[in-house]
Amino acid sequence: MTTTTDAKPQGLPDSIRHYINGEWVDSIDGDTFDVLNPVTNEPYIKAASGKKADIEAAVAAAKTAFEEGPWPKMLPRERSRVLHKIADIVESRGDQLAAMESYDSGLPITQALGQARRAAENFRFFADLIVAQSDDTYKVPGRQVNYVNRKPIGVAGLITPWNTPFMLESWKLGPALATGNTVVLKPAEFTPLSASLWPGIFEEAGVPAGVFNLVNGYGEEGYAGDSLVKHPDVPLISFTGESRTGQIIFANAAPYLKGLSMELGGKSPAIVFDDADLDAAINATVFGVFSLNGERCTAGSRILVQRGIYDEFVERYAAQAKRVKVGLPSDPKTEVGALVHPEHYDKVMSYVEIGKSEARLVAGGGRPEGFDTGNYVAPTVFVDVKPDARIFQEEIFGPVVAITPFDTDEEALELANNTKYGLAAYVWTSDLKRAHNFAQDVEAGMVWLNSNNVRDLRTPFGGVKASGLGHEGGYRSIDFYTDQQAVHINLGEVHNPVFGKQEEAAEKMDG
Ligand code: NAD
Repeated sequence: MTTTTDAKPQGLPDSIRHYINGEWVDSIDGDTFDVLNPVTNEPYIKAASGKKADIEAAVAAAKTAFEEGPWPKMLPRERSRVLHKIADIVESRGDQLAAMESYDSGLPITQALGQARRAAENFRFFADLIVAQSDDTYKVPGRQVNYVNRKPIGVAGLITPWNTPFMLESWKLGPALATGNTVVLKPAEFTPLSASLWPGIFEEAGVPAGVFNLVNGYGEEGYAGDSLVKHPDVPLISFTGESRTGQIIFANAAPYLKGLSMELGGKSPAIVFDDADLDAAINATVFGVFSLNGERCTAGSRILVQRGIYDEFVERYAAQAKRVKVGLPSDPKTEVGALVHPEHYDKVMSYVEIGKSEARLVAGGGRPEGFDTGNYVAPTVFVDVKPDARIFQEEIFGPVVAITPFDTDEEALELANNTKYGLAAYVWTSDLKRAHNFAQDVEAGMVWLNSNNVRDLRTPFGGVKASGLGHEGGYRSIDFYTDQQAVHINLGEVHNPVFGKQEEAAEKMDG
């Protein structure tokens, strides 16, 4: 089997440039960086490397489009039509999009295809939500009416990671644009290819110039990401990425008191009780950690298994992990492709080595047989993992899972909550009372009971503890991307607060 090359997707551009005010442009200083294909680790395209000056140009365009352009003033119904067109185009280009995503990121093509459909659905969902949105109005005793006036905020800065780039971008672009903001998107430097399809899609759908701007490049100080966070004309930053980067962004945004939404890392537990449907639990927990190459924020990367079924679970789980099909990202039979980048591959492999000194290895543990080049890691299973082990505590973000036994419900809960993260939790049991009680107490922003990640787009998405700040999804996204101005009207006789009636007046004041 050859693992040294993968099919180049059709329609690959010559280079990846910025897109500012409706024009493709190079970096002002002409700087570029190499983008690697994860199967060969060869550079296959150059991308413009944005710095402060490029961000300034993009923010200026977005600010002008916000202040002078039609987008924020359009009726929700009009913006909704444009968003539906975007969804149609994304759907119709799903194959091309997925091929590019898979080539750039190493994701299996089938999973990239599903994520492309999810991206279209994100636009469709917010297109519908924005017209269904009703603003709150309250009749206040004493012949007053209060109503809430929702307004777009301005230029939203969107900073995204490399794990499912296009889908995660759609998750932020959908609500930011639906609510009438203009945006500057800074995609991850490892995977800029699919983001370069947005401009064509938006132009075709009728998004006015300046509403969507794209600046490629690195995140660190002096580069595009950092410059976007520190730009005074960007009142909102929606960030998805590592918890450590979230801390840096939080600090850098503080002087400007920006609105922040942070979707961060995870080390989510999957708890399998001894009364669980074992077939379903094993299938779901294998998929839950190895899908998307294990580069998945909600991966159930710690599996806690009740002692009575532990040995059977471990044996069957290891056997199933060994059957997961590693292969070329473009092969529809592939279940785990190549990790995104050699730097990330080195990080994951260093955890595999740490794991070998901390726990018992029962599957994987290195390169899969026949894959001598590229960023391939065999689905790796460590068992008898102690809670103080680094592979129990730290996010690996690769196809590596830690399995730990427990005896009682209390111990399961203690182990589940025993990391700094709190993104997701999965519970497998046939006792629904036990499952619901566990959900009450587990420190996780999202809990799935006898289920893998199926999320209705109306529900909140987000983590607690080091996994995030704020929630997105459904109306929470609308809240984040809008200012909610309260307007108070007196309809009766004038009985405004006066010093003659100061006690009564003070009763209704907030400060
Ligand atoms: P990362 O934090 O390294 O980078 C994310 C983005 O931030 C990139 O675009 C990067 O260029 C930019 N960036 C880096 N430093 C910056 C700075 N100082 N200022 C501004 N921008 C900066 O994350 P990653 O390695 O790309 O992604 C993997 C991480 O993302 C994992 O921790 C994963 O759990 C997390 N993630 C979370 C969710 C979620 O919804 N909670 C979803 C997907 C991924």
